[in-house]
Amino acid sequence: MSDKPKLALYWAASCGGCEISVLAIHEKILDVAEAFDIVFWPCAMDFKYEDVRKMADGEITVCLFNGAIRNDENAEMAHLLRRKSQVMVAYGSCSHEGCIPGLANFTTREEMLKWIYHEAPSNDNPNGTEPQLKTETPAGELELPEFWNTVKTLDQVVEVDYYIPGCPPEAQWTLAAVQAIVENKLPPRGSVIGNNTTVCDECPRKRSEKKITRFYRPYEIEPDPEICLLDQGLFCAGIATRSGCGALCPQANMGCRGCYGPNEGVKDAGARLIGAIGSVLDAMTEEEADAILDTLPDPAGYFYRFSLPHSFLHRTNLKREG
Ligand code: SF4
Repeated sequence: MSDKPKLALYWAASCGGCEISVLAIHEKILDVAEAFDIVFWPCAMDFKYEDVRKMADGEITVCLFNGAIRNDENAEMAHLLRRKSQVMVAYGSCSHEGCIPGLANFTTREEMLKWIYHEAPSNDNPNGTEPQLKTETPAGELELPEFWNTVKTLDQVVEVDYYIPGCPPEAQWTLAAVQAIVENKLPPRGSVIGNNTTVCDECPRKRSEKKITRFYRPYEIEPDPEICLLDQGLFCAGIATRSGCGALCPQANMGCRGCYGPNEGVKDAGARLIGAIGSVLDAMTEEEADAILDTLPDPAGYFYRFSLPHSFLHRTNLKREG
């Protein structure tokens, strides 16, 4: 039996980008394979949940868990991997703050099922079939995990030791975390592994005093490639978002959407962003501010795009949490 530390990687409710981002460390993945025994990575190799169940508690040294928790299977694996792992890392924005799957907290499970299986114009479902938790087939009973009404972050379900932000995380932070574990130089428990400056601090665009009179959608104007996008009326969350990505989106003419989450000490990323954007509106009255914000479609989706489950709001219609 090897005495190398053991690494597990798991994918819950997410798009799969985090799994790909692990490979973005390129040939350094060989160093990871050299430093760790990879004992569970179902996306890349044929591992079964049973393999994890058979491990002793705490046998896994570190688990990089990506994805939000939105069904019974995600929750079961979060609890199982927490029990088996010494260090649990919320890897990527979905497990850290809820991210895009968390936007489902603006609606309900019933509304989603109604649209997806009955009302979407591309549907062909004359019998109104919906997925069932249990289905009898000639081959035996099939079981689906229960789909939750509310998407949760990993730390709303199990204890989390560290966070690696980003949608997906940039390779340098994955590598920094792996190196810190190998060298036993981890920061204090509960830390976000990354910078504590903002995307604006690493953005090369020229900034001036901001006085926004209206917002534009990206297709409505051709932005000056040298000047701050927010100064030009394009929504950019860089002013209230943790750096670490290299300001990749603003450099490609697309405003930052906030996937790295807020800086240290901020409890609600959306509220922080509302404050930051509100402070640069060219408005003296509530009516003037409202008129400018009317040019920003889907403000809740802009301000809470990556962070709704982790916010104080958590979801709309709290009475229907579940
Ligand atoms: Fe900051 Fe965005 Fe302006 Fe760059 S474009 S300076 S990230 S607000």
